[in-house]
Amino acid sequence: MAGVGHCYLVIHVSGFFLVDTGSPGHFQSIARRIHSHGLDLRNLQFIFLTHTHYDHAGNAFLLKEASGAPIIVHESESDMLKQGTHPVPNGTNLVFKIISFLGQRFSKSHASFKAANPDIVFQTAYSAKDLGAEALIVHTPGHTLGSSSLIFEGNLFAGDSLFNAAGMVWPPFANDEARLLETWKYFDTLPITTCYPAHGKRMGKEVLTKALKKRGQKGRVKLNRAKLRGQSHGRLPTDLEM
Ligand SMILES: [Zn+2]
Repeated sequence: MAGVGHCYLVIHVSGFFLVDTGSPGHFQSIARRIHSHGLDLRNLQFIFLTHTHYDHAGNAFLLKEASGAPIIVHESESDMLKQGTHPVPNGTNLVFKIISFLGQRFSKSHASFKAANPDIVFQTAYSAKDLGAEALIVHTPGHTLGSSSLIFEGNLFAGDSLFNAAGMVWPPFANDEARLLETWKYFDTLPITTCYPAHGKRMGKEVLTKALKKRGQKGRVKLNRAKLRGQSHGRLPTDLEM
């Protein structure tokens, strides 16, 4: 739903809730979509924001106002939600590093949205049981410091901690790739079957496991190179140099 990224409406036996709210300007289409399922927006259980980039928090204010539902967000994203702005994230590959650099220099206004007050902030984890859903929200940093994910009935809603478009699973933007890798290792331990990234199609957990293995191998190659370097007193055989 909405904008270039997905926000997810999760309908279950005892209610419904939202994961993210899309880019600014999509409030009406989200409200229409909710009504099209025969649901009354005023019964929305909660709005969980995986983080506060504009394409996730863009309609949080209006959706909260219309529904009265509480907004849940990690504490380190809370100020950005209140201010309605965020720093442009770092790119993880050459193309996105350039996009990030240009965004940081010239397009700061793009990273803004209508500010909202959070209702529930958490540090490590939050159970939405009291709000009527057996959903667990966990802090999964890396893409941003406060990025978080929601686990519900074997499904993982990972925001921008996962990606599944243009042949990429590793997100094109991440402020801390080492922490993101730790987050991925955590994802791999979860009893889930399906992952829902905010950009691209849903995917089976095996796609994540495979991509994680690939990244692990990259890590090992680097480690071996470093080891070789040490053994050869700072000189690598020519065929290993890149
Ligand atoms: Zn993001």
